[in-house]
Amino acid sequence: MSRQTFIKLCSLLLAGTLLPVDAKTPKSASMPALFFGHGSPMNIIEDNSFTQMLKKTALSIPTPEAILVISAHWVNFETSLSTVRETETIYDFGGFPSELYEVSYPAKGSHILADRLSIPVTSRGLDHGAWSILTHMYPKADIPVMQLSINRNMSLKEHYALGQRLSSLQEHGVLIIGSGGVTHNLGYFDTQHIDSTPETSAKAFDTFVKETIENKEYEALLTPEQSSGIPLRDVHPTLEHYIPLLYIAGIAALGEKNTFIHEGFQNKAFSMRAWKVG
Ligand code: ZN
Repeated sequence: MSRQTFIKLCSLLLAGTLLPVDAKTPKSASMPALFFGHGSPMNIIEDNSFTQMLKKTALSIPTPEAILVISAHWVNFETSLSTVRETETIYDFGGFPSELYEVSYPAKGSHILADRLSIPVTSRGLDHGAWSILTHMYPKADIPVMQLSINRNMSLKEHYALGQRLSSLQEHGVLIIGSGGVTHNLGYFDTQHIDSTPETSAKAFDTFVKETIENKEYEALLTPEQSSGIPLRDVHPTLEHYIPLLYIAGIAALGEKNTFIHEGFQNKAFSMRAWKVG
């Protein structure tokens, strides 16, 4: 998406043209927004403190009308919504036990979101950044789900601003989930030890993000290397796992309550920090 198109999209949303739901749709309880570090695909079949947290979180919040996921595993060159037809489960990982490939997540797409957001809809299933989380939160796959792509042409500030504009969906029962990781350097990935001690820079960067959020200095997250003093090549050689955090930070900056609902590391490289806003 060009910068002009992005600006037009934001202005339409601000003007109310992109109403998040049909006006006739009864409002449900306002939903929180959530960020999860999703870690290794092994979490799909693991029963651990992270997957137990996902189950507990789903039970502790109102049942959503629909779910919108911004996942690290869908990056393209425009802002797109995933298909409204029945979703397919995308196995976008390799080298894991066959058991993982037997799990499916056949959620339907959300016509509400597709009809009301003037964002191009493309035919695509759910990637594991979405369904590895949702299979624990909503195992019946009975809530409509769509994904919003990460547009690589947008700046970090533009992702943050788009998160703020999407926040109006929350009042209409839409659960917004950012799924990525506060740290994600596959160069340090320890496949053998899921609970291994984190790499030093990963631990330092996770602490930086935690304290920045606690201090409500959200815009410092838009210049992560300068603000933390930690080279991004050590914690995010590429930014796709970091960007979903900025959508939730944008929502948090609107004044919602912050709660960290999980922390820790997996496989030396992955911060499993989870954050609830609202
Ligand atoms: Zn991932």
